[in-house]
Amino acid sequence: MWAIFKNKSLQTAFFCAIFVAMLKVNNISFQYQKKPTLTGLTFQVHKGEHLSVIGESGSGKSTLLKLIYGKYDLNAGTIFWKNEQILGPKHNLVVGYDFMKYVSQEFELEPYITVAENIGQHLSNFYPKEKQRRIQELLSIVELQAVAQTKVRYLSGGQKQRVALARAIAKQPEIILLDEPFSHIDNFKKQSLRRNLFAYLKAKNITCIVATHDNNDVLSFADNIIVIHKGQLTRHDTTQNVYYNPKTHLIASFFGEYNFIESYGIVYAHQMKIMTKARHKAIVKQSYFNGNHYLIEALFETQSIFIKHPEALKSQSTIYFEVIKTRL
Ligand code: ADP
Ligand code: MG
Repeated sequence: MWAIFKNKSLQTAFFCAIFVAMLKVNNISFQYQKKPTLTGLTFQVHKGEHLSVIGESGSGKSTLLKLIYGKYDLNAGTIFWKNEQILGPKHNLVVGYDFMKYVSQEFELEPYITVAENIGQHLSNFYPKEKQRRIQELLSIVELQAVAQTKVRYLSGGQKQRVALARAIAKQPEIILLDEPFSHIDNFKKQSLRRNLFAYLKAKNITCIVATHDNNDVLSFADNIIVIHKGQLTRHDTTQNVYYNPKTHLIASFFGEYNFIESYGIVYAHQMKIMTKARHKAIVKQSYFNGNHYLIEALFETQSIFIKHPEALKSQSTIYFEVIKTRL
C-alpha cells in the first residue's frame, strides 16, 4: 500500500479511482428569447477529462459553457460539479465558483496594469517569493516572459488571450471552461501554446471543456467530443470514434476534406488511393499544394471528389483509385 503513495502517477490513478468527481449536466434547456437555444442536453465529464465541444457557429457552444459557469439561469434541468449544484444569478449573487474558471471569447482583463500583475492578481500575497515563482511559471506556459512588465492595453489580441489563459490557471481550478481559446493567436505561437497548456491541464488533472471550431484543438488533445447541432447534443463519443466514424457530413467536414460516395459513405481524402490499376476511374480537375501532399480534385461519375496524393497531377488526365477505409 505504501508503495502507491510514493509513486506519483500511481498516486494520481489511485485517488482518481476513489474520487471520481465529475460534472453532471442533466437534461438542461435554455433560451435567451422565445426560440430555444439549447434543448435537453445530458452528459457527464470525469475528473481530469478533456472534453471538446464542437458545432457550427451559432449552435450554442458558448451558451453551454456560460450555463456550466452559472452565468444564466437554466429553463430546465440541473448541473452539478461533484455534489455542488451550479446555480445561475437568480440564486447566486456573485456569478462563478472558486473551483471553476472560464475564459470567454471576450477575455476580460485589467488594461492598466502589467501582464505579470494581471496574472498574479488573485494569487495570495502571503508568500511573495512563491507568488513570483508562480507568475514566472505561468508566464512561461503561455510564453509571455518578454512582455511581463508591459501594460495589458498595449498587447495584441493574441497576447491578451494568452494573459487570460494564464490568469485562469493561476489558482489551479478543478475545472476550466475555454471558449475558442486560441482563436486570436497566430499560427507561429498556436502549436506550442496549445501543447503547453493542454499538457499542463492534464498533468494537474484539471478537467477542461473546450468549445472550438479548430480540429487541431481536438484531435491530439481531447479525450471525448460532444457535438451540438441546432441546440441539441447529437453525438458524444471518444475522439477516435467520432473521427473514424463521423456519421454526418457536418462532423466529417470538421475534420477535413472528405467525400460522400455511394456504397462507401463518408470517405476522407486520405482514405482514397490513386493506383495504376484500380476499380474506380476519375478525371483530374485540379491539384492543390497542401504542404506534405497534394489534394487532387477529380470528376468521378457526376461528382467532384478529393484525394490525397504525394504529387500534383495533370489536369484532364485519367486516374484510377480505390477506397481504403483503414483506421490510419
Ligand atoms: P456558438 O458559440 O456555438 O457560436 P452561441 O452559444 O454564441 O453559439 O449562440 C447560440 C445562439 O444564441 C445564437 O443563435 C446566438 O445568436 C444566440 N445568442 C447568443 N448570445 C445571446 C444573447 N446574449 N442574447 C440573445 N441571443 C443570444
Ligand atoms: Mg461561441
